[in-house]
Amino acid sequence: MTDFYHSNFKVGILGGGQLGRMFIQEAVNLDLNVHILDSDTNAPCKAIANHFELGDIKDFDTVYQFGKEMDVVTIEIEHVNVDALEQLEQEGVRVFPQPKLIRMVQDKGLQKTFYKENGIPTSDFHLLKSKADLADYRDFFPCVQKLRKGGYDGKGVQVLKDPDQLDQAFDAPNLIEAFVDFEKELSVIVSRNEAGEIVSYPIVELEFNPEANLVEFLFSPADVSKEIEQKAAAIAQSLIQKMELVGILAVEMFLTKDGEILVNEIAPRPHNSGHQSIEGNITSQYEQHMRSILNLPLGDTAVIKPSVMVNLLGEKGAEGDVNYQGLREVLGWSGVYPHIYGKKTVKSFRKMGHVTIINDSLEEAKKVALKVKETIKVLGQ
Ligand code: ADP
Repeated sequence: MTDFYHSNFKVGILGGGQLGRMFIQEAVNLDLNVHILDSDTNAPCKAIANHFELGDIKDFDTVYQFGKEMDVVTIEIEHVNVDALEQLEQEGVRVFPQPKLIRMVQDKGLQKTFYKENGIPTSDFHLLKSKADLADYRDFFPCVQKLRKGGYDGKGVQVLKDPDQLDQAFDAPNLIEAFVDFEKELSVIVSRNEAGEIVSYPIVELEFNPEANLVEFLFSPADVSKEIEQKAAAIAQSLIQKMELVGILAVEMFLTKDGEILVNEIAPRPHNSGHQSIEGNITSQYEQHMRSILNLPLGDTAVIKPSVMVNLLGEKGAEGDVNYQGLREVLGWSGVYPHIYGKKTVKSFRKMGHVTIINDSLEEAKKVALKVKETIKVLGQ
């Protein structure tokens, strides 16, 4: 069992972006020392970590040397050097989520294979070595082609309408998935501690920006029946149980037009689909992540008030030092909580912050969210 409460107990995080930053905000409440490793001198965690180390999270020696000094090592992004984490684990450092699970999540082909082998519902798929293999699956179109490794935020994912679109197909190890004509995209965040306790969050609904392929709005709780909610929660709980993961797991799902739930992908860390939990739920996903990796009792996840989360993305074409317009105005409205991540420079559609709006009525929260979206502009100078 992890005895975290001595004054020099150190939690190391690989990655110093906004997820790490919001983790630190919770860790302060338990007076934990948080050490961050990131190669960006302007990383969002830099100014608020107890210790910030500049270095590459994909480099074996850098990760190993950083992790050796820690009591617990965790991640805020899964593209990290897993060999170093495995070495640390063998030497007795606690690494959560477990390195072998990070390795699985890094590869969308291994993820899908795990779902299939463990009876987790997911769309049909085939693993391909290169684009030449597409010719063998002429009956499988239209389909969604995904790079097995390295993709994020919709990069490395494309719809292929017919097998003759070979010129635009990815030519690297990839998978093709049956195209799902979904009704909604949903997410359930679930967590598990070393003692095996499992707790999931009420389901949320995601709406994507079609151009940027990023979450634009999140609604909590999702507008789905009790039956769908229970089915989705059972799938997320069964998945974390089968993985035996220690930490937090975001499970992104599709609700099909005939009421089926299919798992799309997972992230073994705090996730964009849980930001609203900071103000909207009794325990935030960041606190829950901390509780799970320290083997503390997991917190109550109940919704305090319905909420809507709006991602603040850089305006299309914005560049240079960031300039937020409209913040002053929205700060005058009740139940509106902006989170500015502290990134110095803006780019088109870069995630620069988010705003959570809580209200007794989800409908009302949606109206305010639309006003927030119209009022705040993330521009360059
Ligand atoms: P990323 O890891 O980059 O977020 P995803 O695998 O989640 O990539 O895919 C990005 C988006 O593409 C999803 O949120 C969904 O809107 C769409 N998508 C992914 N897989 C399918 C599918 N099989 N059928 C239809 N749409 C899909």
